[in-house]
Amino acid sequence: MRENDRKSGQFVVPGERLGVIEEFIPGTGTYTKDGVIHSQITGRTLLDMLNKKVSIYPLIHGVSVPKIGSIVAGQVSNVQSKSATLRISQIGNKFLSGNFTGILHISDASLDYVDIMYDVCKPGDIMRAKVISTMNRTHHLSTSERNLGVICSFCSHCGHMLTLQERGLRCPKCGKIEKRKFASDYGKG
Ligand SMILES: [Zn+2]
Repeated sequence: MRENDRKSGQFVVPGERLGVIEEFIPGTGTYTKDGVIHSQITGRTLLDMLNKKVSIYPLIHGVSVPKIGSIVAGQVSNVQSKSATLRISQIGNKFLSGNFTGILHISDASLDYVDIMYDVCKPGDIMRAKVISTMNRTHHLSTSERNLGVICSFCSHCGHMLTLQERGLRCPKCGKIEKRKFASDYGKG
């Protein structure tokens, strides 16, 4: 860290010189050697000018981007007869700041034959899916496995959240029964 770079938010790597103990108190993510404070980790600096303390905020390695095999979750934004579009907001348990779009084609939606995409999901539903291809910068998704599919959905008649009952998804408010390709743990999340 150069003298004039001494502010919070500077990107540093392990071993990088942060200052000397005469100037700063070494905080978390730092170590001291021969009176010089170094960063122990990759991260960003946090300078507490009041207490003259330097700490490093760790950066999570690698920017989260859905890859082949990633389990993602997101909201269905558009449904056509043979495909649906998902706004991916989560990879595993990690919420994303960026926006990724996923495409689910009807042939990858279920192991059973599906006639029309509206029997798989509807706009507004939350789905869990697996990324099967990232060709042409599009995330192609599959929901055919048992644990994949709709995990939260809403009644197309009254908008109430559908609950999983013995015979499928049902609206507890108006009684409407709806078709979805739902995940085996629907409603338990
Ligand atoms: Zn309803």
